[in-house]
Amino acid sequence: MICFNCGKKIAQNSTLCEYCGANQTTHIATLKEIEKTKMLANKRNNVRSMFNFLMGFFLTLGILFTIISFATVNGVKITLLIFALVCLLLFFVSLTIKHIMLRKIEHKKF
Ligand SMILES: [Zn+2]
Repeated sequence: MICFNCGKKIAQNSTLCEYCGANQTTHIATLKEIEKTKMLANKRNNVRSMFNFLMGFFLTLGILFTIISFATVNGVKITLLIFALVCLLLFFVSLTIKHIMLRKIEHKKF
């Protein structure tokens, strides 16, 4: 079953949610509420997987540019290190946007 409060999957017939602790017996969720919670959980997962992919991409590129820069001559080295820095910056930008978006989705529920 799905927790009415946080939307996470919990054991069938459990009385308390193992993630947020919400008492499942005091709240008879309406179909609309269940749909909404499911939709929000879906959205959260989408945002998470999308940004995890982006962050992995930027981090890998940043590390790659750094490694390659060690094997190159000065002129190219600086360019590659700048690329690596930009990638790391984009990594942190993605991380921040991910958290802002997840927070926004969280607040929509209440
Ligand atoms: Zn819960």
